[in-house]
Amino acid sequence: MEIVLGEAVSIGRGVLEQGAVATYIPELAKSDPMALAAAYCGLDGRVCSAGDTGTMITMQSISKVASLGLALELCGEEVVFTRVGVEPSADPFNSIMRLEMRAPHRPQNPLINSGAILVLSLLPFSGSSERVAAVLETTRRMSGNERLGVNQAVAASEKETSDRNRSLGYFLRSVEAMEGNVDDILDSYFRQCAIECSVEDLAVMGATLAGGGVNPMTRERVFSRRTALVLRALMMTCGLYDGSGDFAVRVGFPAKSGVGGGIMGSVAGRAGVAVAGPALDERGNSIGGIRTLEELSKSLSLRVL
Ligand code: GLU
Repeated sequence: MEIVLGEAVSIGRGVLEQGAVATYIPELAKSDPMALAAAYCGLDGRVCSAGDTGTMITMQSISKVASLGLALELCGEEVVFTRVGVEPSADPFNSIMRLEMRAPHRPQNPLINSGAILVLSLLPFSGSSERVAAVLETTRRMSGNERLGVNQAVAASEKETSDRNRSLGYFLRSVEAMEGNVDDILDSYFRQCAIECSVEDLAVMGATLAGGGVNPMTRERVFSRRTALVLRALMMTCGLYDGSGDFAVRVGFPAKSGVGGGIMGSVAGRAGVAVAGPALDERGNSIGGIRTLEELSKSLSLRVL
């Protein structure tokens, strides 16, 4: 398996120069654009990895899967999907346009920024610290890594440059789509995005979803079978933003990307497959990561379509 992963990473490296690291969060601009790693976690709980496996990235939007899973478990599907839709969006991840154009002003899906901010507002916790602790705990249970934590420098950097996400939050409140203290909810959002992890952590998280909600390493049930299925369905249709269709054609299994350069893939009944490579394409998805996953999908027959 290490050899297959290594070959896919080498092919992925071939496109790194066409990408660029995210700079709109200044701290992310310090990431190494040439780093690339891949990991595979089977449902037997064994993890293999190759490439620059020491690379640590922040989860960014991948954390939205954990907070949505938590919301589905604590609030129920009906409550969550009354407030946020489940349809793909052909707009960029932080777009405000569609939110305003159509009433009711419901975010299109929970994996774009407006939807994820709204999902956090639904969690039954009194403030940001409690809310973030619960999301962090969920990522620890999904990855089986008790040491996961928030990269404070990245969280602070995003908070300082958060005009767009603040606009989304205040707009949602102005149209009564979201209740609560917007600053407090956004604070949780910035911190959950800054949870730091390795490519192996992401592979185990993907495997937890592939195993119907049970972490294959710790054998702990993190989500119900139904929640795991809903999360995989949304990852398949909305996981790579306006690049989700292209990813389905080229790679063909559910995945969620983040602007830190991670992509967490989940192949039901088989494995979690992940990549970490901070150089992004124009849609904010890891350019070398997608190329690597395309190769792995072929060599390991991972396509679910
Ligand atoms: N923290 C990022 C933002 O809100 C997440 C976006 C992403 O990973 O795609 O802009």
